[in-house]
Amino acid sequence: MEKLCFNEFFNNSPTAYSCHKVILDNEGNPYDCQYLHINKAFEKLMQIERPKVINKSIYDIFPEGCEGENEWKKIIQEVNTNQTSAQFDIHHPSIQKWIRIDVFPLCNGLIGCIYHDVTKEYRLDHEIEGFLKVNIDMLCITDMDGNFLKVNKAFERILGYQLEDFEGKKYISFIHPEDVPASNEVMNKLKEKQSVSSFVNRVRTKDGTYKYIEWHSEPYGSYIYLSAQDITETRELQMKLYKNNQNLIELTKVLEAKNKILNDLAIRDELTGLYNRHFIDQRIEKEMAQADRKNQPLSMIIFDLDHFKCINDIWGHPIGDEVLKEVANLANNLVCEPNFIARLGGEEFVIIMPNTNLQQATRVAENIRLEMEHSHHPIVGQITASFGVAERKEAESYYSWYKRTDKAMYRAKESGRNRVCSSEDQDHCFNTLVKIEWNEDWESGNEMIDEEHRLLVEKANSLFYLFLSDSENEKMMKQIDVILKDIIKHFCNEEEILLDAGYPDYEKHAKIHETLLDKVFKFKEAYQNGVLKLSEFFSFIVNDVIIGHIQNSDTDYFTHLQDNELEFTTSL
Ligand code: GH3
Ligand code: MG
Ligand code: MG
Repeated sequence: MEKLCFNEFFNNSPTAYSCHKVILDNEGNPYDCQYLHINKAFEKLMQIERPKVINKSIYDIFPEGCEGENEWKKIIQEVNTNQTSAQFDIHHPSIQKWIRIDVFPLCNGLIGCIYHDVTKEYRLDHEIEGFLKVNIDMLCITDMDGNFLKVNKAFERILGYQLEDFEGKKYISFIHPEDVPASNEVMNKLKEKQSVSSFVNRVRTKDGTYKYIEWHSEPYGSYIYLSAQDITETRELQMKLYKNNQNLIELTKVLEAKNKILNDLAIRDELTGLYNRHFIDQRIEKEMAQADRKNQPLSMIIFDLDHFKCINDIWGHPIGDEVLKEVANLANNLVCEPNFIARLGGEEFVIIMPNTNLQQATRVAENIRLEMEHSHHPIVGQITASFGVAERKEAESYYSWYKRTDKAMYRAKESGRNRVCSSEDQDHCFNTLVKIEWNEDWESGNEMIDEEHRLLVEKANSLFYLFLSDSENEKMMKQIDVILKDIIKHFCNEEEILLDAGYPDYEKHAKIHETLLDKVFKFKEAYQNGVLKLSEFFSFIVNDVIIGHIQNSDTDYFTHLQDNELEFTTSL
């Protein structure tokens, strides 16, 4: 019953079986097997009928030329000698199948075989192999630890290794040390079943150099499939381009700097560093267009140093230059963005003031005038300027606007200098000097000083009328000499009074007198040598020495004297 059952099992099993008798050679070594039994599954698998198999040698069934055929002998010997099972694959060309055969020992010199059709597996392997072979990209398969399992020919070609050099080696062992941390990170992602695209690292070639490789990796099952491309050339080109680009950027920077210098040279005044006329010509249209567009006021100040020629004539051109620089600096510090100042040429300057009306611009001009008036050059002493201010009219041309401002400036000159004239105010200028009226603010608190000041003002007026009536120069000069004597006498008296009154800045004030007188005699000498015009000398005496000094320096001690006077009166 059992035997019957076994036979049934053997015959009807869907797995192919065979049973063999081992055949020994003369020396007792197994070299062949004779087929004793096969089942139906065997017939089906091998596409052969039982009569053609039974009692036949294995080499009849798997004739010479089968791939793996020479395995038979080795396996039979191994199974027979060691009494253990063994497995091998063999290809049968006539049925076009790959068969995996498990061989195992039975009793009495018999062996059994189990057959499996593994053609599909081989075909897949073959297809993969073919695919790997024909692909021009680098393709490889690794396990999850990054050990190479398969690489294609492209690897060999690109990195210079033999295929065997890769197999069984870790991917990471080929990577540039600097790229190992990033590459390990990618491996970790892949282990977490995330695919990674376009990852670039450097891979060592056989000759020790490195190539830039771009990887696309896909984890699947327990393998990682990678395709890669050698992007070394592109990368090196990119690096070159990048370097060239950097060089280009550097070059552009140098050129820009040079351009800036050239541009600065073109738009800057060499002496003062301020913008020049060329800059104004370039810029003014834009400013006017902007003012029109925004419907905003736009104002201009022109100022010209007073008696500047005398400075050159008396102290020389280099001192004149120094004064120009100082004035430029002083004015520039008082001009804030978006306003801008330029030197128009000589000792003439212009300030353009966007979004500023006439009143505001006049205030700025007056502020600069005052600052200049209070400044004191160590050699030249006080420097003053005359200012013209005009707000641009609707749709007015630059030329017309400039002319109006210039005219206002000339009115400031004509009406005594060191003042601000606006284009609107035809008759009136700040500090108008037609006839000098005694001003209450000039009361010092000391009778004698006031009396002398009044006398000097009157003499200035008489000198002025003498000048207006076109008197002879000699007559004028005589009158000037009289006034100079009065001035010297007054300075002495004033100093004495200030000393008696304990004025703390007495020495400073006495120094101002000294400088002023020094300047007076230099001007007189220049006039006598024909370097200075009488009108210039006259204007200096009246504006700077008499009125200017009372207004700007004497007023400093007024409070001290007035306080003293008050104390004296109350003590009585
Ligand atoms: P006014 O009060 O009427 O303006 O008299 P002014 O002497 O200032 O005017 P004038 O136009 O008679 O003389 C200007 C002088 O400025 C003549 C010229 O030699 C001098 N000047 C022009 N440019 C420069 C310069 O760059 N440096 C120096 N030191 N002097 C200059
Ligand atoms: Mg001048
Ligand atoms: Mg001038």
